[in-house]
Amino acid sequence: MPADILIAGGGIAGLASALALSQRGHRVELLEQAPAFGEVGAGIQLGPNVTRRLGSLGVWDALERVAATPDALVVRSATSGAQTARLPLRDAMKNRYGSPYLCVHRADLHALLLAAVRASGVVSLSTSARVVDATAHSGVVCASTQDARAWESDVLVGADGLWSAVRDCVVEHPVAPHPTGHTAWRALVRQADLPAALRSKQVDIWLGPRLHAVAYPVRRGEFLNVVVLAEAAPAGDARSWDQPTGLAALQAATGRTAGALQALLEAMPSWSAWSLCDRPPVSGPREMANERVALVGDAAHPMLPYLAQGAGMAIEDGVALAEALDGCETLQVPAALAHYSHARWARNAQVQSRAQRNAVIFHATGAVRWGRDVALRVLGARLLDQPWLYAA
Ligand SMILES: Cc1cc2nc3c(=O)[nH]c(=O)nc-3n(C[C@H](O)[C@H](O)[C@H](O)COP(=O)(O)OP(=O)(O)OC[C@H]3O[C@@H](n4cnc5c(N)ncnc54)[C@H](O)[C@@H]3O)c2cc1C
Repeated sequence: MPADILIAGGGIAGLASALALSQRGHRVELLEQAPAFGEVGAGIQLGPNVTRRLGSLGVWDALERVAATPDALVVRSATSGAQTARLPLRDAMKNRYGSPYLCVHRADLHALLLAAVRASGVVSLSTSARVVDATAHSGVVCASTQDARAWESDVLVGADGLWSAVRDCVVEHPVAPHPTGHTAWRALVRQADLPAALRSKQVDIWLGPRLHAVAYPVRRGEFLNVVVLAEAAPAGDARSWDQPTGLAALQAATGRTAGALQALLEAMPSWSAWSLCDRPPVSGPREMANERVALVGDAAHPMLPYLAQGAGMAIEDGVALAEALDGCETLQVPAALAHYSHARWARNAQVQSRAQRNAVIFHATGAVRWGRDVALRVLGARLLDQPWLYAA
């Protein structure tokens, strides 16, 4: 008999989980705290491990219609502009891993998942429904929302992001995420509005002391997404992904950069900022599920964006959760969720650790920076490719 599944959170993790679970025949109720579904205006890179899973969820055609396929990933110095390494992406990733490397606008990915969830006809969606509490007893989970409504289900999935409320039902000693002191500045521009020299069909990464910048095409290549990550005081409310800011604040954090990067930053029409918070990597299966409550995405494992895999792991979680609950009777739910957490925790922890390590390597100064650049020049694509991540 299919299970009744309640999902808290309608971001990428919640929608991917809802889609995967509904395709296995479960009845899904999704509660989103915001008055409307939506995503911020920024880009997202999707490795072959992620595009493969999106294909398995049946959204391939919709994804292809909105994505950009970058030619290559090119690493440069943020101070001199010199190229240090290049990894071909366009055909190479598909040939090697059986699925492409794509770049999308977050709102486009979110919208196509939402459309697929709606089209399934078996997911009930509610907005302005913030889950504030949940308890499990007698084989049932009871959740309540801020408007004093009560919800009962066989399973509760916490897909409620970095500041998850559901996490408190799973983790024994919950603590708040910690500020990293890193800020992400992001901008989006129509490529047609840029001088020809600044338009791009590739993922460009500039590495500098205590900062790095990333630019890549989205929306079939019509827009360029630019993100600068710098070690600078948080810009404002740590919970907001959309703090208004400007070029002057950005440049106070980065100092002067290489000519081409400087020109790109100056060409952006506006900037928003994100203060990055983090948690230690997941330390065991007990941090991803307990009895009838499971966590997916940032609720379980926030990821610094230094490996570009936070949303990727959220999508992997959703697919794995649906596999674990496939054909599961209500009495078997705790065992199925234990299977899910055992299948997912170590991979998520590895991606979190690598992202944290990349933060140190990308922003290195002195001898570490010198060693990094020599390694990039000598090893090039072999250092940039990530078979352990993309092949799984
Ligand atoms: C600068 C930057 C760049 C990034 N780039 C990439 C990239 O290139 N590739 C990649 O894979 N990842 C990337 N990431 C990571 C990625 O953005 C996140 O990991 C991903 O968005 C997490 O999705 P989520 O659904 O788990 O959480 P969220 O996106 O935070 O969604 C949570 C949802 O739950 C809702 N909610 C919250 N609390 C409640 C509640 N109590 N009840 C009901 N609803 C609730 C929220 O309103 C929201 O809709 C990047 C992150 C940053 C900061």
